Amino acid sequence: MSWLLARALAAVLAMLAGASIGFVAGQFTRAPVWTSVTGAALAVAMLAGLDALRGERLMLWLRGGQDRQAPRDAGLWGELAYRIEKALRQRDQTMATEQTRLSQFLAAIEASPNGVLLLDAQDRIDWCNRVGAEHFGLDPQRDRLQRVTNLVRAPAFVAFLQAGRFDGPVQFVAPGGRDTLQVTVRPYAEGMKLVLSQDITEAERNDSMRRDFVANVSHEIRTPLTVLSGFVETMARLPLSEAERARVLVLMEQQTHRMQALVADLLTLAQLEGSPRPPNDRWLSVAALMQRAMADGQALSAGRHRLQMLGGVDDEIAGSEGELLSAVGNLVSNAVRYTPEGGSIDVQWRLREDGSGELVVTDTGPGIAREHLPRLTERFYRVDASRARDTGGTGLGLSIVKHVAQRHGGEIDIQSELGKGSSFRLLLPALRVRQRAAAPVVLAGAA
Ligand code: ADP
Repeated sequence: MSWLLARALAAVLAMLAGASIGFVAGQFTRAPVWTSVTGAALAVAMLAGLDALRGERLMLWLRGGQDRQAPRDAGLWGELAYRIEKALRQRDQTMATEQTRLSQFLAAIEASPNGVLLLDAQDRIDWCNRVGAEHFGLDPQRDRLQRVTNLVRAPAFVAFLQAGRFDGPVQFVAPGGRDTLQVTVRPYAEGMKLVLSQDITEAERNDSMRRDFVANVSHEIRTPLTVLSGFVETMARLPLSEAERARVLVLMEQQTHRMQALVADLLTLAQLEGSPRPPNDRWLSVAALMQRAMADGQALSAGRHRLQMLGGVDDEIAGSEGELLSAVGNLVSNAVRYTPEGGSIDVQWRLREDGSGELVVTDTGPGIAREHLPRLTERFYRVDASRARDTGGTGLGLSIVKHVAQRHGGEIDIQSELGKGSSFRLLLPALRVRQRAAAPVVLAGAA
């Protein structure tokens, strides 16, 4: 039964009841018609009064913020209150869910490694995440609703926003002058803009290093190739005597060796960069390592220098044999190549108090001026390019040593003084250094 039918029935019943009571009362006053009508009217008025009372209670609840339960009446008012309360609770729940989703959404943008700025139609800052604030030098609270171009004045950025053509990104130096930013703008809604910023300083540096490296490698390879092709042409075109031919062949062999050395060093570097960290449980004898580097050094020196090996007999280091041999070999070979005839070279191993170890290659060569020291381990950096090439250098030796040291958790330290000689120290952390366990002493006669 619908509530309308119930209401009509209640009204009819109330009227009937009122009329009946009025009729009975009318028997005493001899005016039963009037008393019946009055009784019916009174009954309907009471019903209306009761309705007004219930309506007022519902209205009070609605005005009062609905924190209490809605009035629990029977019939129409009860159902009305129940339905209104249900609708309100559902609305509250939907709002709470939307609020949580909005906060999660903002937290996700906040966590983005990129800067995010929301601009309104007048390019005023509506919201920005922490990274965006850092990139553009903004204060998210203080600078809200400020025009972005009043705060970020980089000409490239201002012109980009004003031009309104946002097909590609724009790059400019961030406020503060240190970092390079790449900014993309995406318009949305009515004139609003989403500004995404990315710090590309590191990528730019890597890019320029890669370009330099490729240019250097090309240059290093082109030089011996040009010389070689010159000799080939000479041999093909000119009638050379036997002695001249022999001389040209020696020079060609030198250039070929130079290219071979360069390619070998490039491959070593590529391997160092691409392979996993050396093991820290493969123990190698320090003395054996030094002896092998010394033997190569002696062969290269061919008796022109005095080479001496000190210490290392009882110690072991953990790591990659090939890499460590290449590092020590490079240091010894540099010492031999740069030290004039008659000079001396010491290869020494020292245990330090904190348990770490250092392998030091000292020579009495020409030494290196102070200003070159910080750049010596850069790829292709040479103090004196022509001299280094004369001695067969590739310009990659110390860069390889530095890589090997770092991959073993250590570092390389260079001390040098012009005219007095140089000292290259390869430091290895305590974790990779140990003293060889002493061989058990067998007592004569012991059972
Ligand atoms: P290269 O193959 O040219 O020797 P390295 O990377 O091994 O390249 O060394 C870089 C530069 O450091 C060399 O060109 C040289 O100028 C300088 N150098 C390295 N070792 C010594 C040394 N023992 N004495 C003097 N100069 C050195």
